[in-house]
Amino acid sequence: MSKKAKFPKLILITGATSGIGLATAKRFAKNGFNLIITGRRKKRLAEIKKNLADKYAVNVCTLCFDVRDYNACKKAINSLTGEWKDIDILFNNAGLAKGFDPVHQGSLEHWETMIDTNVKGLLYMTRLVSQGMVEKKSGHIINTCSTAGHEVYPNGNVYCASKHAVEALTRAIRIDLHKSGIRVSQISPAHVEETEFARVRFDGDKERAKIYEDFNPLRTKDVAKAVYYIASQPAHVNIQDIILMGTQQANSNIIDRSGRKYDL
Ligand code: NDP
Repeated sequence: MSKKAKFPKLILITGATSGIGLATAKRFAKNGFNLIITGRRKKRLAEIKKNLADKYAVNVCTLCFDVRDYNACKKAINSLTGEWKDIDILFNNAGLAKGFDPVHQGSLEHWETMIDTNVKGLLYMTRLVSQGMVEKKSGHIINTCSTAGHEVYPNGNVYCASKHAVEALTRAIRIDLHKSGIRVSQISPAHVEETEFARVRFDGDKERAKIYEDFNPLRTKDVAKAVYYIASQPAHVNIQDIILMGTQQANSNIIDRSGRKYDL
């Protein structure tokens, strides 16, 4: 990292190798933030680092690890030195859905993957990063929840439960940390395209992953814009949650699938 008189604000984004995390990394880079980007795909992280650093002239650090592995999370965070340790914003975004089955046919492996990633991974990262925030009495933790953290839908059982847990943790962590001057917020999007979410959920089945073609869902940049809005409020303002959906989506279960209505 080049020496600068003042280190610009620093955000750590989990799950920055695609989708919402990647769009958010771009948004913050565009606004002059230095970034720590994380994910499990090393090559992808290196490519993204180069693109962001070249395009926006910001400093980017990559950490390649699996958020389900506490020791790996700890090793990654402990590897940060100097100003990279001084994280202003933790964006707990890494997450996924696996499978789409009623509970009596669900895969235990899918359930464990979702709970370990969406709930335990978020907790591990929060445990590790919040300590420094408490010491300096400032910081902002933003969690990626979902409309699935507010509602349930058929065959969404464990994914919805994991996001309801994120919703509860956002509120509970805020209670624990607000006296230390730390803001805790979340973002709750409905369907978002330009992500790998559906492909991951359906194990790469491209046909089943075609869930966005007959309506206009959110784009990743819409979510990134909302995350930036949360982060860019004055220090005394904490936006607790932003729930956002495409105009053709009324809730998790009701979607106007009569064709795309809005030209972009
Ligand atoms: P993507 O699949 O495009 O991105 C998921 C990101 O999470 C990737 O960068 C992936 O990186 C990372 N990730 C997944 N598992 C792990 C793991 N075990 N360890 C470290 N990183 C991991 O999907 P989205 O951008 O859509 O998902 C981002 C978040 O948004 C998730 O929490 C998801 O639940 C939530 N969400 C998504 C919605 C949608 O419709 N797309 C709607 C509402 C919420 P890598 O594979 O390199 O490890």
